[in-house]
Amino acid sequence: MRRKRQPPLTSYLMPRETILSADDHWPNDEPERDDIKPTDDASTEEDVALRPRHMREMVGQRQVAERLRIAVDAAAKRGEPLGHILLDGPPGLGKTTFATCIPRDLGVSLQIASGAALAAPKDLLPYLTNAEQGSVLFVDEIHRLPKAVEEFMYPAMEDFRIDITLGEGVNARTVNMNLRPFTLIGATTRTGLLSAPLRDRFQIREHLDFYSLDELMEIVRRNAAKLRTELDDDAAHQIARASRGTPRIANNRLRWVRDYATSRANSEMNGKVAGAALEMLGVDHLGLDPQDRKYLETILRVFHGGPVGVEAVAHTLNTAPDTLTDEVEPFLLRSELVVRTPRGRKLTTKGYEHLGETPPDESPRVAG
Ligand code: ADP
Repeated sequence: MRRKRQPPLTSYLMPRETILSADDHWPNDEPERDDIKPTDDASTEEDVALRPRHMREMVGQRQVAERLRIAVDAAAKRGEPLGHILLDGPPGLGKTTFATCIPRDLGVSLQIASGAALAAPKDLLPYLTNAEQGSVLFVDEIHRLPKAVEEFMYPAMEDFRIDITLGEGVNARTVNMNLRPFTLIGATTRTGLLSAPLRDRFQIREHLDFYSLDELMEIVRRNAAKLRTELDDDAAHQIARASRGTPRIANNRLRWVRDYATSRANSEMNGKVAGAALEMLGVDHLGLDPQDRKYLETILRVFHGGPVGVEAVAHTLNTAPDTLTDEVEPFLLRSELVVRTPRGRKLTTKGYEHLGETPPDESPRVAG
């Protein structure tokens, strides 16, 4: 069944939320650090309030959290810096949250940088020289580091040393500079794009996966309490189911349902109100939003179900291929609605059925 076209409610559908502000890192009860670099994203107070502050407050990702807790505990007991950590997984699953909880749990300072903003080694230099003993440097989107910056990082990661070239031409000379031992936490939506030498320099590599329905319900319940709103189990269930396995989306949906309830339902957040609010966003029973369905419908109608290359789909949708690969496809692949074959993306039987179409009969024809 095709849904009616809805007004754009982009802020609630946006898979990305603001990342962090300087205030987010260390709350009032902990010492203020002046070496924390704010990101250029202005995050709202609510985003800050919803983000867990310690690993023990995080829901789900149990095995990853357990392994990281052991590493943090051992580093703290030995008084040594924690090994470098690489976190990968689709957006909104908790990479930044881990990267901010770990230094807080360790009681060390944190600096935040983004791979996209580090255009040359000189951009990385202040972060490295400011790093305190045992502190954490978080580099988001580390796959976007240019090669020259990446190579500059190797000795810093391995030997806590950097080689700086002074002067030019025949007068050029290299100066070695020792750094205070620090921990690099890299986050990426694409480990595949990381060069092997960089990947190998991370002692701990963890992949974050989508959250289960129960875990998302728990996040929704906790965050409703943090937002000082009450919701019943049915509403929590509906919001969790509409969240594409992603805590960030669960937070956005929760806020939308709360706004809807305030405006239309006397602030009462029950299953019926949540259902009506989510219907208005165009979110279906699998949690797919209009962008997800448009992607599936494009493969179905324009490319006859596939196989089709992601670039072709992106061109038709007028979107960047990276947005499809990083933000749209992971959940659809995980939901088994599409598959990636060597020849491109292809709808599965479940994909056809979700769009209300009959899958083509692919059984081999018997001659005769
Ligand atoms: P990423 O860096 O992977 O894009 P974030 O760490 O920024 O994702 O997570 C987005 C939001 O989702 C956070 O602000 C937080 O509120 C919520 N969140 C993420 N992981 C968890 C978790 N394990 N438990 C509770 N909330 C979480």
